[in-house]
Amino acid sequence: MEQRPHGCPRRGCEWSFAKHRDLERHLNDTHEQATLWSCAALTSLLAPPATGAVAACRLCGEWPGGPLDAAAHASTRHAVGLCGEEFKRRDRFRDHLRSAHGAVDENFLREAVERCRTEHLAGGDAPG
Ligand SMILES: [Zn+2]
Ligand SMILES: [Zn+2]
Ligand SMILES: [Zn+2]
Repeated sequence: MEQRPHGCPRRGCEWSFAKHRDLERHLNDTHEQATLWSCAALTSLLAPPATGAVAACRLCGEWPGGPLDAAAHASTRHAVGLCGEEFKRRDRFRDHLRSAHGAVDENFLREAVERCRTEHLAGGDAPG
């Protein structure tokens, strides 16, 4: 028996899907641009930690040096904060992160796809 745990959050719509990406496609196709991936949200993912402990660059894995270097590295090497493009499709957004921003880390790509997603559900119920 097939599980379809991803129900459409739109009021009055009874579609449900086994995979979340199928739900996203349904939202985009049926309810018009319900989901967008915005590159502008990358800056919040890459904000340097307030503690001063600087980790390696999350996009390329290189060590930027210090907190200021990390911010400079993100904008000069990866054009973070300079882009602001929006995508209707997850795979297009991932391709863009790779080609335009030099992201190579799979964990980062996965997190970016989750965190940069914005739902436009005007008039609908908020998803659980
Ligand atoms: Zn629907
Ligand atoms: Zn980098
Ligand atoms: Zn971008």
